[in-house]
Amino acid sequence: MSQPIKLLVSACLLGCPCRYDGKSCPSDAVSALEEAVEWVPVCPEVLGGLPTPRVPCERQKEGGILSKDDFWRTKEYEAGANAALLLAKENGCRAALLKERSPSCGVHLIYDGSFSGRTIPGMGLTAEKLHAAGIAVFSEQDLPGRMQELLSAASPEGEPRP
Ligand code: SF4
Repeated sequence: MSQPIKLLVSACLLGCPCRYDGKSCPSDAVSALEEAVEWVPVCPEVLGGLPTPRVPCERQKEGGILSKDDFWRTKEYEAGANAALLLAKENGCRAALLKERSPSCGVHLIYDGSFSGRTIPGMGLTAEKLHAAGIAVFSEQDLPGRMQELLSAASPEGEPRP
């Protein structure tokens, strides 16, 4: 029997109300994968010790994560990213499906650091750490177009990770 495909996923995409505003952001495209994978939900910001709801934060150009009310939260974001990576490794996840634009989970886009709603190309801290560790990162906006690519990257029967 083939092993289950374990997929690390941003918990808010599954309906967990862990977003900064205490809401979730469920996605039909993500739910469509339910039969094919075993979810490994994670919210790096909660794992890093931040409360829900919380003041929104953005990555800054010079590095670091700043809250809208002007407190550096880099330590908490780093801790959450490390915990998410550990969870992925413990579960043998080869891929992650993450929420676009988040300073933790963004895969292709993040907010530009000015709290003006503008986005720039870039990754959140957790996505960056997972990617650096060889875990394939996708966002909900890659679905449904890249679903097959995601499933084969996540498959335990795929090529061994370096
Ligand atoms: S840190 Fe990631 S999982 Fe947590 S609420 Fe933000 S986008 Fe969702």
